[in-house]
Amino acid sequence: MLEIRNLTVDYMTRRGRIRAVNDVSLSIMDSEIVGLVGESGSGKSTLGYAILRLVPPPGIIKSGRILLNGVDLLGLSEDEINRIRGKDISMVLQDPMTSLDPLMRVGDQLLETIVAHENIGKEEAREKAVKLLEAVGIKADRFNDYPHQLSGGMRQRIMIAMAIALDPKLVIADEPTTALDVIVQDQIVELFKELRSKIGMSLLIISHDISLILEISDKVGVMYGGELMEFSPSDEIIREPLNPYTQELLKAVPNIELDDKTLKFIPGDPPDLLNPPMGCMFHPRCPRAMDICRKDKPPTLVVDGKHVKCWLYSEG
Ligand code: ATP
Ligand code: SF4
Repeated sequence: MLEIRNLTVDYMTRRGRIRAVNDVSLSIMDSEIVGLVGESGSGKSTLGYAILRLVPPPGIIKSGRILLNGVDLLGLSEDEINRIRGKDISMVLQDPMTSLDPLMRVGDQLLETIVAHENIGKEEAREKAVKLLEAVGIKADRFNDYPHQLSGGMRQRIMIAMAIALDPKLVIADEPTTALDVIVQDQIVELFKELRSKIGMSLLIISHDISLILEISDKVGVMYGGELMEFSPSDEIIREPLNPYTQELLKAVPNIELDDKTLKFIPGDPPDLLNPPMGCMFHPRCPRAMDICRKDKPPTLVVDGKHVKCWLYSEG
């Protein structure tokens, strides 16, 4: 359904070029949930925004292709991509308060989205808005509430209702649960899974939390320093993570069943993208780094159908 091929995105800052997404390729099938995970600054959000051609300045999409059912979104005119936004691909952001109008009733905001894009009368649009509220677990009697009258979780449900209002093929959700407590986080994850089964949309979910990503996703892309280190089915990532960075991310997940309750973290810092390291981006922190890792960038290899960027899997 969506295929990203060799996507590269730069921020041309006054201090120099930041390559936020470097030669990334991945695909999302119909009704599939793909998760993107990685530490802060690894390029996850930039990749999400690039799909909708909404990378903020001084960002530019340098090269690559983004194919939605075979149509290259990077080749479309501004009018054409505007028609895709919301209708074919929509977005849910971390903080609904920045996206919702505080002075407008939530039901009316939903109505506005529907009426702006669909050629239907007000009554029909209202019925659809109420159905959408119900689909995301909000009772119709909250239609006339203002955003501040709702809890954080309910506001995020409203954002999800707006994102699915026009039956998009793909929803991109950037840290959709980060501002919520763990119980509400779980409810939002369940809601996304339920909507995928009911309406068959695909979902690209972005988070720094690998346990959340593994819980919800069919496939997982692990990003580091703008590069896709691994792209594999979630159960494979749990069973046998290939890239040492994925392995380290998993080791850092707290496990309440273990006696050792100390919080683990990956030693060292993420790369400075103004002065990236030579060779593999992860080599300064990688426990398995070899000489070649310090000199040459690893290729992306296919190992048992999984994609991994690491010299460990290169023959010879
Ligand atoms: P986070 O979870 O912190 O949002 P992320 O993995 O989503 O991180 P991005 O936000 O895509 O990563 O950032 C990737 C790189 O691009 C970082 O080095 C960041 O500093 C840089 N960057 C992002 N937005 C801008 C911008 N508007 N101008 C300049 N550099 C930017
Ligand atoms: Fe580690 Fe080398 Fe693999 Fe990079 S290429 S992840 S440094 S082993």
